[in-house]
Amino acid sequence: MRIDKFLHAMRIGTRTQVRRLIKDGHITANGERVLSGKQQVNPSSDVVYLDEEPVRYQQYFYYVMNKPVGAITATVDAQAKTVLDLFNTTDYRDDLFPVGRLDKDTEGILLITNDGALSHALLAPAHHVTKVYEAEVTGEITADQVAGFNDGVTLKDGTQLQPAQAEIVAFHEIENFTTLRIQIHEGKYHQVKRMIGTLGERVVQLKRIKFGSLTLPVGLLAGNYRALTDDELVALK
Ligand code: URA
Repeated sequence: MRIDKFLHAMRIGTRTQVRRLIKDGHITANGERVLSGKQQVNPSSDVVYLDEEPVRYQQYFYYVMNKPVGAITATVDAQAKTVLDLFNTTDYRDDLFPVGRLDKDTEGILLITNDGALSHALLAPAHHVTKVYEAEVTGEITADQVAGFNDGVTLKDGTQLQPAQAEIVAFHEIENFTTLRIQIHEGKYHQVKRMIGTLGERVVQLKRIKFGSLTLPVGLLAGNYRALTDDELVALK
């Protein structure tokens, strides 16, 4: 492939920055200064350096995002802002996609990658990862009411859900709403909202705080993302 494409794909910089780095003589391939972005490089066998730093070939990229309310879980959309629109130009790649879905009005942890096999493994019905949500729900919900989630709820349209676990975090008496923590092991459309609907109440705020072994990083603000650490990636696989 062209070396300028390779350097951009390895997130060395924007296309303009990469052109400038080549022009200013910062890039070498197999010990020779690279003179043109058109030069061909074999990413898995050629040794490329940016000054003293090796540019290692990386096939897959993994990010954890705190999805904000208002962004849609898609790669492109003509009207709405997508989670990929939140990427900066250096990190953005057109093969990145979100693993699973969060509603537009849900915030919280979202894995974004270009690793289709991992995505498939995490979402396959046979071993769907556990997800934990914090929900703010109208009215006072009791532990007895949510105990029924353990037996597998039947939704209003007849969908039979697998057992899920819920605990009451707090009841806010003055504002009359309950904070719940709900753990589910599948990913049906609007699942948490519809589970709460069976209790005759409504979710007014929903945040995912865990996705499999991944926990929403403390301090990662809504709308921000970061690369997974090696430990996080090993635990996820
Ligand atoms: N359940 C929902 O209802 N919405 C989400 O975004 C995720 C789970």
